[in-house]
Amino acid sequence: MQMVTRFAPSPTGDLHLGSAYSAWVGWHRAREAGGRFLVRIEDIDIRRCRREYEQSILADLAWLGLDWDGEVRRQSDHFADYGRVLDQLDARGLVYPCFCSRADIARELAASAAAPHASRHGPDGPLYPGTCRHLAAAERRSRLTAGEEHCLRLDAEKAAELVGPYHFEDETHGRFEGQPLLMGDFVIARKDTPTSYHLSVTVDDHLQGVTLVTRGEDVLASTHVHVLLQKLLDYETPLYAHHRLLTDPGGRRFAKRDRDMTIGAMRAAGLTPGQVIDRARGAVASLAAPAARP
Ligand code: GLU
Repeated sequence: MQMVTRFAPSPTGDLHLGSAYSAWVGWHRAREAGGRFLVRIEDIDIRRCRREYEQSILADLAWLGLDWDGEVRRQSDHFADYGRVLDQLDARGLVYPCFCSRADIARELAASAAAPHASRHGPDGPLYPGTCRHLAAAERRSRLTAGEEHCLRLDAEKAAELVGPYHFEDETHGRFEGQPLLMGDFVIARKDTPTSYHLSVTVDDHLQGVTLVTRGEDVLASTHVHVLLQKLLDYETPLYAHHRLLTDPGGRRFAKRDRDMTIGAMRAAGLTPGQVIDRARGAVASLAAPAARP
């Protein structure tokens, strides 16, 4: 089977050394294996994403010599693909509308703080307490008919029951037993956009035939629910290779706000593409042992 990797940046800022490293890993693995390297623009967050950043990211990748195969896929051009999958999940009773605001959720969590066993924590903090999962069908219908703002959530327990035990493999971290409840009833379509990161990344990796997902270990926990979705939808599960994140000497992760860490700034300072890649690889090689497994 031909290896297919991808780099999937969100165009919310210029390419920086950390994301350039991520792109290099995907490119290098594909080229080494005579496979395909794809670029996908993850711009479902239409308020934060900008076309200028998309252009500058692609220009920086080209300057770095990280050439990609085929057309760039832009997620905002494919909302219909995610909508179709959402409908399939909905038809199986796996999705429910959630009308809660952030304040509603915070209130609910505070109320359950008296009974700590009632609220569960995930990798990003307390999990959604499931308030809207328990709404009566009639109330759900009337609130939808009234046009009340809502997101859609996956009923994780139901999904877990349908799928049963599952696992995935990460080249560096080894085998993981799937934890379908790790993210609770996660958002599958946001209030402001008809999909979510978890849904669109799963659908696209499948549609694009990605066989090896290379990305930062900051999203390793998400893989548990991506694989859950793959199992629900009868998709192949790719192999994963979550890599270390670049940090500054103080151990702080590079972020888009660190202007001097952008590829543009390094180019302006006179570095060659080879020097930039070496710098990124050197920074990762000097990191200590991998972070704990989720
Ligand atoms: N758009 C995501 C990011 O920029 C990509 C994560 C992934 O590769 O799945 O973090």
